[in-house]
Amino acid sequence: MVTAPAVRHIALVAHDNKKVELLRWAEFNRGTLSRHALFSTGTTGTMLEFELGLKVHRFLSGPVGGDQQIGAKIAEGGIDTLIFFWDPLEPQPHDPDVKALLRIATVWNVPMACNVATADLIISSPLLEDPEYANERPDLSPRSWDGTRPV
Ligand code: PGA
Repeated sequence: MVTAPAVRHIALVAHDNKKVELLRWAEFNRGTLSRHALFSTGTTGTMLEFELGLKVHRFLSGPVGGDQQIGAKIAEGGIDTLIFFWDPLEPQPHDPDVKALLRIATVWNVPMACNVATADLIISSPLLEDPEYANERPDLSPRSWDGTRPV
């Protein structure tokens, strides 16, 4: 039986100095991205929609809550992959939110690319569209913290 390729929820975010890099990468990978559901912070998402001609679900702009919205979506299990080109060479006004997004993606075992090389590996991985594969979500239900978690 032939099963349909998996449709992933991919979030794409880039800081201002990294937006061109992300747009170039996204254009190059437009074919693959077009088969998935795309999410983004406000400005990055507007640029991606314009450049790719694909529908992008846009949250608020990063500095006014967009990073936090994507983080919340990750915690709810609504994002499968995060492409986050953050800027390591310039301080950001919303640095706590940036850190929080990196942290929550790590907490929930979400594959995350912070540079082009890693993004290339994720987008070209056969697992991306393999319906048999899902990155394992850790059991972080409240009961797992108080010692009563069943084994
Ligand atoms: P932006 O946000 O896409 O609205 O510019 C990006 C960010 O800084 O998180």
